[in-house]
Amino acid sequence: DRKKLGKLKKTPSLTLDGTPITLLANIEFPDDCAHAMDAGAHGIGLFRSEFLFMGRTGHANKLPSEDEQFESYKRAVIAMKGRPVTIRTLDIGADKPLDFAEQTALNPALGLRAIRFCLSEPQMFLTQLRAILRASAFGPVKLLVPMLAHAFEIDQTLLMIEQAKAQLREEKIKFDPVLPVGAMIEIPAAALTLPLFIKRMDFLSLGTNDLIQYTLAIDRVDHEVAHLYNPLHPAVLYLLSSTIAIAAKAGVPISVCGEMAGDTNMTRLLLGMGLREFSMHPSQLLSVKNEILNSDLSVLEPVTRKIARIFEPKAINEAVEKLRTL
Ligand code: PEP
Ligand code: MG
Repeated sequence: DRKKLGKLKKTPSLTLDGTPITLLANIEFPDDCAHAMDAGAHGIGLFRSEFLFMGRTGHANKLPSEDEQFESYKRAVIAMKGRPVTIRTLDIGADKPLDFAEQTALNPALGLRAIRFCLSEPQMFLTQLRAILRASAFGPVKLLVPMLAHAFEIDQTLLMIEQAKAQLREEKIKFDPVLPVGAMIEIPAAALTLPLFIKRMDFLSLGTNDLIQYTLAIDRVDHEVAHLYNPLHPAVLYLLSSTIAIAAKAGVPISVCGEMAGDTNMTRLLLGMGLREFSMHPSQLLSVKNEILNSDLSVLEPVTRKIARIFEPKAINEAVEKLRTL
């Protein structure tokens, strides 16, 4: 079976009706790019930069310097040979803690994490933005911002990117002046106020891991409530399908980069909702591609629209299972 999948590496990623689907890889370190290239990924849809900031107890510096970050980002860009690399800014806190920052918050998932943490540490954030911008001189880079929920957070982030650009210009350091900036849609408030994001952002990426956590109020790392963590909860499906539809209508590219994107049980459902970009662990890419190659959008779309109107969990599960047999 693995051998059969391996043969799909160079097969164009098209549905049966000929619609091109973009398949991207999620990575944690630049070296993971080799796996992404191996699986025939069209690019990196999610470079989780926080892994450069974690596990540094043996390091002289608590945080990676601008140069250290730049070298890592540049290495990924070069390894991808002209394919886009989406670098997510630091998504620290909750399930991804820094070694030295003791977590004292009662609810760290609802606390000072990700973009909230970055905006509270402007010098650290500026250092990362400069490093990402510098890497964009070596190939296509996109910048992705996690956990945005408020208009002022978008404004402050864009302002800091402008500040980083102004500094680099002043220092005559090269970067891509039109580097695309995108938002993770992973807080229900963001999904419910999408026009705020569409107006200001070049692209969007649905973080289903957190979107499910926050929609269902289920801590994604708490085993005691793991049985309630349900990607097919009708509230989750509503947020996913409306977000994908609104983005598509506005012509803003949107991907899914949470676990759902790499789950072959979900591929047809997401295709039917209108998703055209999937980002996942490289090891999942060819099985998802296999699913895509055997999918017909004109068959999936009407059935998926019906699923969006079901509220009974059992009926939803059956309908999604049935999608796989169409
Ligand atoms: C997500 O939340 O779905 C996501 C892709 O990001 P992470 O799992 O790193 O929070
Ligand atoms: Mg997330």
